[in-house]
Amino acid sequence: MAKIAVYKFGGASVKDADSIKNLAEIFRNRLRKNLIVVVSAMGKTTNALEEIIDLRLKSEDWYSKSSILEAFHLKVCDELFESEHPVFSRIKNWFIQLKLVVERPLTKENYDEFYDQVVSFGELIATTIVMEYLCNQGLIVLWQDARELIRTNSEFRFAKVDWERTRSACQLQLLPKLDLFPVLTQGFIGADHIGRTTTLGREGSDFTAAILAACLDAGSVTIWKDVPGVLNADPKRFPNATLFDELDYKQAAQMTFYGASVIHPKTIKPLANKSIPLYVKSFLNPEAKGTMIYGSGKQNPIPTLIVKEKQILVTFQMTDFSFVEEQHIHQVYRELDLLKLRVNLLQTSAIGISIVIDYQLFKLEKLVESLAKSFKVRYNEGLQLLTIINPDEDLIRDFSANYTIMLEQRTRTTFQLVGKPI
Ligand code: ASP
Ligand code: MG
Repeated sequence: MAKIAVYKFGGASVKDADSIKNLAEIFRNRLRKNLIVVVSAMGKTTNALEEIIDLRLKSEDWYSKSSILEAFHLKVCDELFESEHPVFSRIKNWFIQLKLVVERPLTKENYDEFYDQVVSFGELIATTIVMEYLCNQGLIVLWQDARELIRTNSEFRFAKVDWERTRSACQLQLLPKLDLFPVLTQGFIGADHIGRTTTLGREGSDFTAAILAACLDAGSVTIWKDVPGVLNADPKRFPNATLFDELDYKQAAQMTFYGASVIHPKTIKPLANKSIPLYVKSFLNPEAKGTMIYGSGKQNPIPTLIVKEKQILVTFQMTDFSFVEEQHIHQVYRELDLLKLRVNLLQTSAIGISIVIDYQLFKLEKLVESLAKSFKVRYNEGLQLLTIINPDEDLIRDFSANYTIMLEQRTRTTFQLVGKPI
């Protein structure tokens, strides 16, 4: 039996009708049993759904925004299907359900849960269109609701995988189907123990592909992107970026930790644990080799640049001239853990603790509120975190000149700064 292969197609690879036609060609040329295809929401749909939530929160007109999103999906269908095809009523049906969900009560307290129920529609709608189109082309695939497979806890927006239940769901539900046909499912979404929809964090579809692969001992995962593979910098920012032919799991994981957006940070670990190779390839040039990530055991020495946006630098200062001790760091970290905020960079001094975190609605407010009694809290928003792996002095000098620097850190292999771009 051929080993299972998992393909992941992200938003850019299904952003319009032509992209979906291109996906079908990639699929047609590689069609086989034991293929799982993970598809995420079309183009910027998840951002649009986030805007709908935002408007709903402010009691503004979210309805028009949702109608625009519906019109966009229906127009894509217009280009892909005959007018009497059932896909049109299926998409309208998803939008009726979406509107019912958005009308539910929304407060600061249930925000995260509400968010997951709403944003999950992007993936459900995209996979409906792609499945219908593939089947229409004679490429039979089975549609699978990912919420029946990816079982999680109830940490909405950042749900943690319940590996045992996910593995048995995959083996019970996916394996028999894969023996007959390729299976198409959604990225990013899952369900908690009572069936409420959860999500794995923004851009989480890569992680979905890795979870399914790990649970079924797949032979490989391929992430299809609009870039040639993993590059040493974001080509949209730095046009001279060069392609890595191969990368060790460790180096790739490190890059994603610092904010390289080419792969979701959680993708590598489950694959590395099972020695499943990860290919990152271009859907615009599917025959090209792309990047292979595996246990090569070699550190690639090419300098690598990573920029993370929307960073907040928060400083907790001691109020009574005492020095920072372990218990203070512990106190700050406990609060961060409760709020599910991850620290991107930490620096302590005699009388203060500085951390760098991602922007998230309401979270900073809650953090400041809970720690204001113990520390003098200051923060700066709208910053960038620049990381250079394998830096040289010229690079550090050139890039530092582009920032008003607020914090800097350096090890033998990594240079990092937090600041405002000039
Ligand atoms: N659609 C989700 C997002 O945009 C998940 C993904 O793209 O992987 O964050
Ligand atoms: Mg997406």
